[in-house]
Amino acid sequence: MSKVTEIVLASRNKKKLIELSETLAPLGINVRSVSEFPEVGDVEETGSTFKENAALKAETVARQLGCAVLADDSGLMVDYLDGEPGVYSARFSGQDATDESNNKLLLKKMSGVPASKRGAKFVCSLAFSLDGNDSVFFEGETAGKIIEKEDGNKGFGYDPLFLSDELGITFAQADGNEKNRISHRGRAVELFIEWIKNQ
Ligand code: IMP
Repeated sequence: MSKVTEIVLASRNKKKLIELSETLAPLGINVRSVSEFPEVGDVEETGSTFKENAALKAETVARQLGCAVLADDSGLMVDYLDGEPGVYSARFSGQDATDESNNKLLLKKMSGVPASKRGAKFVCSLAFSLDGNDSVFFEGETAGKIIEKEDGNKGFGYDPLFLSDELGITFAQADGNEKNRISHRGRAVELFIEWIKNQ
């Protein structure tokens, strides 16, 4: 059992909250959303790496609330595009970007690129801060290829274009559990759990 009994998740994403709550409940850790605290505003993601953005969110919220906070930042890095869209994954196609417009732009940028140069990875950085102190980090990655047209209708974001090396299908064809087992986020959360158990 961990000495930490409550963690605030610095994300307004309900799916992430449910997933983390279920994973941490057996350890006696209650997870609350930052949305429960109206005094905390959105933290601007001004960092140039996933790690910087995750730390920025975790430490800002933890300083304001004076408690334990976990934050995540993740995205897609495509080899041929020198790591793009990276930290701009959510806003790849502009301010009003949607999953659809982002995928469309990615396909356009990858048009005509040979199969051998279509490698990509999803990356997730988790930052944990207690009372605003320096973060402890947990990182996960998962490798795949960008295919030439969307396949599958599960998941979100770039899932329909990401053919997982390990699964042999796109993330949008995989069941939630199947994806979580090998995903960038799943792997980072696994490392976090191993660590928090002993705190
Ligand atoms: P966030 O930091 O987890 O909110 O993710 C930022 C952006 O990265 C999302 O809006 C997606 O475009 C992309 N992304 C992150 N994780 C995934 C994933 O598991 N599948 C597909 N897209 C993802």
